[in-house]
Amino acid sequence: MKTLRFDLLRLPLLGRFLRWRYSRFALQLPLLLLALLALYDGFFGRQLAPKNFATVSVWLHYRGLLVLAVAVAGNLFCAACPLLLVRGPTRFAKRYLPQLSWPTRLRNKYFVIALTLVYLFAYEYWDLWASPWLTAWLIVGYFGAAFVVDALFPEGTFCKYVCPLGNFNFALSTASPSQIGARDPEVCLRCEGKYCVNGRVDTPQGPKTLKEAPTENAPRYPGCETKLYVPQIRSNMDCTFCMNCVRACPYDNVAWGLRWPGLEWVRARYKQDVVWLGVLLYFAGFMNAFGMIPAYYSLAEGLSRLLGTRSEALLLGSIYLLWTGLGVGLTLGVSVLADRVSGRRDRPWRSLRRWGIAYFPMAFAMWAGHYAFHFLTGWASIVPVAQQALLHLGLPLGQPDWTLAALVPENWLYPLQVAIIYLGLAGASYTLFARAKREGATAGAAVIFAYLLILATLTLWVLAQPMEMRGTLLLSPST
Ligand code: SF4
Ligand code: SF4
Repeated sequence: MKTLRFDLLRLPLLGRFLRWRYSRFALQLPLLLLALLALYDGFFGRQLAPKNFATVSVWLHYRGLLVLAVAVAGNLFCAACPLLLVRGPTRFAKRYLPQLSWPTRLRNKYFVIALTLVYLFAYEYWDLWASPWLTAWLIVGYFGAAFVVDALFPEGTFCKYVCPLGNFNFALSTASPSQIGARDPEVCLRCEGKYCVNGRVDTPQGPKTLKEAPTENAPRYPGCETKLYVPQIRSNMDCTFCMNCVRACPYDNVAWGLRWPGLEWVRARYKQDVVWLGVLLYFAGFMNAFGMIPAYYSLAEGLSRLLGTRSEALLLGSIYLLWTGLGVGLTLGVSVLADRVSGRRDRPWRSLRRWGIAYFPMAFAMWAGHYAFHFLTGWASIVPVAQQALLHLGLPLGQPDWTLAALVPENWLYPLQVAIIYLGLAGASYTLFARAKREGATAGAAVIFAYLLILATLTLWVLAQPMEMRGTLLLSPST
């Protein structure tokens, strides 16, 4: 076990703030207010996507800033997630509702992978990005789902097994330059209560876990809701950066340490379902971008003639299924081939588990490149849309300047995307060969690398096509 080197919690103001009991609430409150503003403008504002706070904040800024935060710091959006403010009402509701345990068969990432694919299909089918009203309903649905799951199941169930956004953040934050860990693992060996995961309450006899002292009348510090045990953490997967562990540990032994970005790809051992999450996020990200270029419409037209149908649901569903099926089949086949050339014979999913880690850097690059495009095509539009929404609320902050909404740094877009995809490929290659060297399977890594090179080329081709500038104001300011 290694001690983490630089600990961000040692920074005077930051450390103090994050140890404060209400620090998470302080982070959640601004996002809750923004969500309420998005709801108001989505339901009652002008139903023009590039001029509505709901669509601009959710589809341009939230997604773009999320990836940026993950890349430079960590899973900050889960840390500040306003959905968990349903916790107050759910604690009340829990008194009257049966308490269920999440089915054992669903304690993995397969359910959330399925939800993510359904969500991406719905996004495209209903053009969620173009409808402030539907975007507002999506926010309501998200809060409703968080409430229902949190009221019926143990805390943490929603984040770990249900939330597509949270799991997207978990997968991408495997690239982050920071991670929770133990300052001194020796202290953890002597720690009786394992409070970071079991929670803590201070009694006159000393610290006890929440279960040991359920009625003690003293401040209670919950432990990790996603059941991560600090000295064993090797990955950001399932970590919401809630800092519960920091506050619950009576020995001040939790660190928020810096690490090399992507280092965990070289070291961590992911379970099968987690590997599938990375693989499917890459292919889903590709499909999401592909759905916005002319080639998609040509393909849909051809398929429409072939199947003799104009049903958009059928055509879109078929293309999604074909691409995902093709991606999964090819990826399994290439993994088996990589094993064979390394002298191994294993079942296809075991081969995928061995090599699948390389899809995490690719998935990160795919989504970062795509979201960077949308964010940069509308980065300044948040100012006039927020001004307009506040104006509707009777809180004038100046007249909206719509010329800001059409500031698109077009010359930068593609070069930036190319740089991001190359970085992803470089990360995947380093991960592959570093792991393969340890296991004496360099020939197998070369096979996977060749496959990733083809995927990266395809990705660059998609990103090079004229892409719909969804949610961006490109017309005259009088639109
Ligand atoms: S991090 Fe703190 S609470 Fe958790 S095992 Fe280590 S010493 Fe105990
Ligand atoms: S309590 Fe769990 S989820 Fe929260 S920061 Fe600590 S390890 Fe991460």
